[in-house]
Amino acid sequence: MPVNVKTMSTSAHPSADAIHTGETITNRLVEANERYAADFTDPGMDARPVLRVAVVACMDARLDLHAALGLQLGDCHTIRNAGGVVTDDVIRSLTISQRALGTRSVMLVHHTGCGLESLTEDFRHELEDEVGQRPAWAVEAFRDVDQDVRQSMQRVRTSPFLLHSDDVRGFVFDVTTGLLREIDPA
Ligand SMILES: [Zn+2]
Repeated sequence: MPVNVKTMSTSAHPSADAIHTGETITNRLVEANERYAADFTDPGMDARPVLRVAVVACMDARLDLHAALGLQLGDCHTIRNAGGVVTDDVIRSLTISQRALGTRSVMLVHHTGCGLESLTEDFRHELEDEVGQRPAWAVEAFRDVDQDVRQSMQRVRTSPFLLHSDDVRGFVFDVTTGLLREIDPA
C-alpha cells in the first residue's frame, strides 16, 4: 500500500484522517523509525540490563513503563502480555533473563481498569465454539487485581528454574494518577 505522508513529526501518532483514508498504521511506525534512526547513535551497550532487573507488566497501552519507572535504555528487561500474568512463557523469559543475562530482581506491574477483569474463562469456550478448536492457553482472567498480583509473585518465587527469587515485588499502577501501589505478598 502506498504511503502518503502529509505532515512530518517525530511521533508515529496519526491524524484521524490518516486512519480513515486507509493509510496503514504500520507504515506510520516504519516512517517514525526512519526519523528515530537518523538521530540514533550506537550506545555501545552490552545486552545485560544495567539495573539487573526484569519488569513483567500488562501490555496495556496506557502504561508507559520506562517513563513511569524512570528507566533508561539498557536498564531492564521488559516482559509484557495481556494482564502481566506470570505464564509459562514469562517464566521462560525470566529464566533466560536471570541465567543468561544476569538480572536478579523481578518487578511485577498490573494496573487498574485491566481488560482481563471484564473477561472470564468463558472466553475460551466461546472461541472454541467459534473456531472449532480449544486454545491451549488459559485466559488468566481475574476479578481481584491485588490477588492476581499475589498469585503472580507466588509463581515467580516458587519457580524451580530461577536463580534469584528473594527480590520479587508486585504493584498495581493506577492509570488515572500514574502512581504505583505495592501489594503485600502475604
Ligand atoms: Zn491490563
